[in-house]
Amino acid sequence: MRATLTVLGSGTSMGVPTIGCNCSVCHSSDPRDRRTRPSIMLRYNEQTVVIDTTPDFREQALREKITRLDAVFYTHTHADHILGIDDLRPLTYHHPSGKLPLYAAPDHCDFLRNMFRYIFDANYKFGGLPKVELKPIEAAVEFHGARFEPVTVIHGETPILGFRFGSGAYLTDHSDVPRESLDKLRGLDVLFLDALRYKPHPTHSTVEQSLRIVDEVNPKRTFFTHICHDLPHEETNAKLPVGVRLAYDGMKLELEI
Ligand SMILES: [Zn+2]
Ligand SMILES: [Zn+2]
Ligand SMILES: [Zn+2]
Repeated sequence: MRATLTVLGSGTSMGVPTIGCNCSVCHSSDPRDRRTRPSIMLRYNEQTVVIDTTPDFREQALREKITRLDAVFYTHTHADHILGIDDLRPLTYHHPSGKLPLYAAPDHCDFLRNMFRYIFDANYKFGGLPKVELKPIEAAVEFHGARFEPVTVIHGETPILGFRFGSGAYLTDHSDVPRESLDKLRGLDVLFLDALRYKPHPTHSTVEQSLRIVDEVNPKRTFFTHICHDLPHEETNAKLPVGVRLAYDGMKLELEI
C-alpha cells in the first residue's frame, strides 16, 4: 500500500533557530534551516497517523493542513515529543470512534497519565479536554492495513521506541541501536535516524555514528533528523554520501507501507 510521509519537524529539543542564539544557522535565510521539534506524519488508506506530538504540533498541523487524525504513536515521553498533546483537541472532537488512540510503551502510558493527569483523571470537571485514549504497545500494532512494529533503541541509558512501517522506519533519539533492533531494519526503502550534530552527545547519535548504522543496514534512502544548529542544511548535505540527506520541515516522500 502506498503511503505519503511528511516531516512535521526535523529539529532537536530546543528547535532551530534556538532562542537567543546568534549563530549563522539560527540566522540562516534557507527555510530548511528552520527546524521545529521532531515528528512525522503518515497518510495511507485514508488514515492519518503522526509519530509524537511536539510543542510545535499546532504550527505543524496548520502548516500541513491536517484536518483529521486517526492515531498517534509515541517514541518516548521527553518534553519535545509529547507537549503538543493538548493541541490534539480540535482533531479529537471529530474522531470517528470518539477517542483518538495514543499508542505508547506501557511505562510511557503511565508517564503520560501522570504528566497529563487533567486529561486522564475522570474527576476533572473543567471540560475542554482532548478526547484521547492510551493504548499500551505490547507488540506490533496493526492499524488499518499497516503494521507498526516497535523497534527498541537506547536513548542515553533508557530504552525507548522507534517504529518500522512496511519499507520505512523512523528512529529518533538514540545513542545506540541494539543488534536485535538493527536486524529489524533490513531491506528498508526509507530510514530516518537521529543525527544531532558532529560532536558526541551522551543521549543522541552523531552524523558519524548514524552513518555507521546506514553502512550496517543499507537502506535505499536515509534521512537524518533531530538536528541541532551545528548542521547547516546545504553545507552538511554536500558532505553526506549518496542516498543520505538531512530531513527538513515539510519534506514529503512516498513509500510502500
Ligand atoms: Zn528528542
Ligand atoms: Zn544557533
Ligand atoms: Zn528524548
